[in-house]
Amino acid sequence: MDPRRRACLRAMGIDLWVPKAGSEQRAGHEGFEQEALDAADVLSLGEAPVTIQAERSSPGIETATTFGALDAVSDLGWDELRETAVNCHNCDLHQTRTQVVFGVGNRNASLMVVGEAPGADEDRQGEPFVGRAGLLLNAMLESIGFARDQVYIANIIKCRPPGNRDPHIEETAACQPFLHRQIALLQPQLILSVGRVSAHNLLGTEESVGRLRGRVHRFDPGDIPLIVTYHPAYLLRRPQEKSKAWQDLQAVHRQLSQA
Ligand code: URA
Repeated sequence: MDPRRRACLRAMGIDLWVPKAGSEQRAGHEGFEQEALDAADVLSLGEAPVTIQAERSSPGIETATTFGALDAVSDLGWDELRETAVNCHNCDLHQTRTQVVFGVGNRNASLMVVGEAPGADEDRQGEPFVGRAGLLLNAMLESIGFARDQVYIANIIKCRPPGNRDPHIEETAACQPFLHRQIALLQPQLILSVGRVSAHNLLGTEESVGRLRGRVHRFDPGDIPLIVTYHPAYLLRRPQEKSKAWQDLQAVHRQLSQA
């Protein structure tokens, strides 16, 4: 494995030198780490893609859409869209936010990452994924050869929910037109949806991330390939799942190589 990839895996917390969990003493996440490395070695990035079943998402959960708001932004360019978002008062979150966190990155990116919502650091700095979870996301992207500024990063909602609670349906509905317009402007080759809230809102389903990962979904409108993985904040709490995220990232790389 080349040194840069090795360094990225280290930054993700995947230890290269842990022996396989053959002995009972080495239970727990170390075994998963070795599994990730096995996957990394077996599924080297240049290999023929493994079969990933494509499926259409079935809108299972209620995803209220504010059609008026959608119309209002559906023909805006990037700068007007940002300006409109920054001045948005369409839900109560404007009362508690410090800044609107519109999104960041390359507007010609092939890969778009969609998270959940700004946390405290993002609310302060006005940029998505700048806290600890953001550092892990950067390492995850690096592991498949993307610098942070080569991708586009946005969230399901643009304003921080107080106390980092899950966004309410009125809030996701009010914000949806902004994200949908960002996706339409970007036209990414692939969306990487990180975490439950992101996946549920993008796919209109209530299935767990564990069940949604491992397949290529389609985002509508646009019929854009979409891969689900665990949220970096979740991976910080449950490092034993990082090997699965690594497998998902390999799938992202394969999908983009095919495009
Ligand atoms: N978590 C998210 O989902 N998005 C951010 O921007 C930061 C943390």
